[in-house]
Amino acid sequence: MKKGNLFVVSGPSGAGKSTICRLVRKMLNINLATSATTRKPREGEVNGRDYYFLTIPEFEEKLRNGEFLEHAKVHENYYGTLKAEVESRLAAGENVILEIDVQGGLQVKEQYPDANLIFFKTPTMEDLERRLRGRKTDDEATIQLRLKNSIKELEYEKMYDTSIVNYTVDDSCGHLIRIIEEKSIED
Ligand code: 5GP
Repeated sequence: MKKGNLFVVSGPSGAGKSTICRLVRKMLNINLATSATTRKPREGEVNGRDYYFLTIPEFEEKLRNGEFLEHAKVHENYYGTLKAEVESRLAAGENVILEIDVQGGLQVKEQYPDANLIFFKTPTMEDLERRLRGRKTDDEATIQLRLKNSIKELEYEKMYDTSIVNYTVDDSCGHLIRIIEEKSIED
């Protein structure tokens, strides 16, 4: 059976990639892998839906057991993609989206050279700061850390296959859907 395609969406946090990935998941009925993290849940986040929220020892145990496809420390917390969220779906011919950071994206590319790496960003840094403040989920120190890290993350854009600039939700969803559909036509 033909394997499914893997799409990796990365970019500065606050750029809007979660919103776009969730909308595209609904529109295309495509798999969006649920990541594991040691970060504390934000208000409204549900374990098993938004993330698998783990303690540091739980995360480290899974790491030792080789359960992660990739993992990274992002903004001082661990994040990782469980193989169980990806491998069987690809093997069954289903497409999968990973919404992960740039370090994880490059680890995935090493293991899946055909993975399509999509870099997602706001038109300007001012837009990013406005969005981070607007979502009112993070304190000032966290916002500052995320802004500082976004400058480093932007350096990875050149290692990605495609970029999406998030002007509007509609445009960005359309762009991501086109990338996914074009890849499926190629096959
Ligand atoms: P947040 O805490 O805002 O949900 O996510 C922070 C950052 O961690 C985002 O850039 C997000 O893409 C990244 N991230 C989420 N899940 C994973 C994962 O499984 N692996 C890696 N490497 N990064 C992740």
